[in-house]
Amino acid sequence: MEVGREVKNLNVGDRVVVPFPIACGNCAACNAEAYSLCENSNPNAWMAEKLMGHAPSGIFGYSHMLGGFAGGQAEYARVPFADVGPLKVPDGIPDEKVLFLSDIFPTGYMGAEMCNIQRGDTIAVWGCGPVGQFAIASAKMLGAERVVAIDRFRERLDMARTKAGATDIINYEESDVYDSLMDMTGGVGPDACIDAVGTEAHMPGALYAYDRFKQALMLETDRPLALRQAIMACRNGGTVSVIGVYGGFIDKFPMGSFMNRSLTMKTGQCHVHRYMKPLLERIQNGEIDPSFVITHQMSLSDAPNGYGMFVNKDDNCVKIVLKP
Ligand SMILES: [Zn+2]
Repeated sequence: MEVGREVKNLNVGDRVVVPFPIACGNCAACNAEAYSLCENSNPNAWMAEKLMGHAPSGIFGYSHMLGGFAGGQAEYARVPFADVGPLKVPDGIPDEKVLFLSDIFPTGYMGAEMCNIQRGDTIAVWGCGPVGQFAIASAKMLGAERVVAIDRFRERLDMARTKAGATDIINYEESDVYDSLMDMTGGVGPDACIDAVGTEAHMPGALYAYDRFKQALMLETDRPLALRQAIMACRNGGTVSVIGVYGGFIDKFPMGSFMNRSLTMKTGQCHVHRYMKPLLERIQNGEIDPSFVITHQMSLSDAPNGYGMFVNKDDNCVKIVLKP
C-alpha cells in the first residue's frame, strides 16, 4: 500500500490536497486500496448500517450518516488521519491544476477506469457537470475511440466537446438518447455507459413525473432516470459505471434488461487516495490540465451566491473555485 504518509515531511507554507473520503490506512478496506470503504473513519457507521446494511467511510461535508464531518469549503478544516490522506503538492504547479485531485478528477477517472476500456470502444457519459467532464476526459485518456457526452445545457456540451475531448454530443431535450446512441453504434449500443448524474436526474417525459411523485410521497428516495437509460442503451455484455451519487432506494430498475443481457455494474464513492499520485503525474506530464472545468472564481464569503449560481447554471456556470 502506498498512501500519503507525507505529513511528517511538511514545512510551513507547503500545500496539500486532501481527499474527500477519510481513511485510516490500516484496515482491511484500506489495505485493499478501497479507501472510501475504510472501516475506522465513520463514527456514525450505525446509521449507515440501518439504511445500507454496511457502512462506507467517513466523508468530508456529507451527511451525518457518513460521519457528519464539516466540509472543506472553509478557511480551516480538521483532517482526521492526516498522515494517510493528504498529498503534498510540488512547487511550481498552480492551485487550480491540482485542486480537483481531492474529488472530481479522481471520481471521473474511476468512472472511466471501471469501464475497462479497450481500443476502439465507444463510451457514453450521462451528465456533463464537472465529474462528467473528467469522466469524458479520462475515457479519452484511457484509449476510448468515441466518447459520447449527454446533457441538456449547451455550454456543458460545448465544454465536453472542445475541452474534455468528447467526439459526439447528445442534447436530450433535442434528440432521443437511445435512438441517437443506436444510430452512432450501428444498433449495437455503447461498450460502456457512465452515469455521472446520480439521483438529481432531470429528463423530459412521464418517468420523470413518476419519480418526482413517488419522491414527494416518500415512496422512493432517488430519481434514477439516467441510470435506467444507461442500462437500456448499453450493448449486450457491456458495463454500466455509476459515479453519480445515490442515497437510498430506486424504483423501476430494469433488472430484466440487466440480467438477460449479461451487463456488469461497477460503482462506488471514489477511492481518491489510490488515484492522487498517478493523476498528479498525468498533470505534470501535460496529459491533462484539470483547470479546464473552471468557469468562475470567487471569494469564500461569496460561496452562498456561488451555490445559487451552480444550481441554477447561471452565467454558464460549470465549476466555481472559492479562494479563502
Ligand atoms: Zn481504513
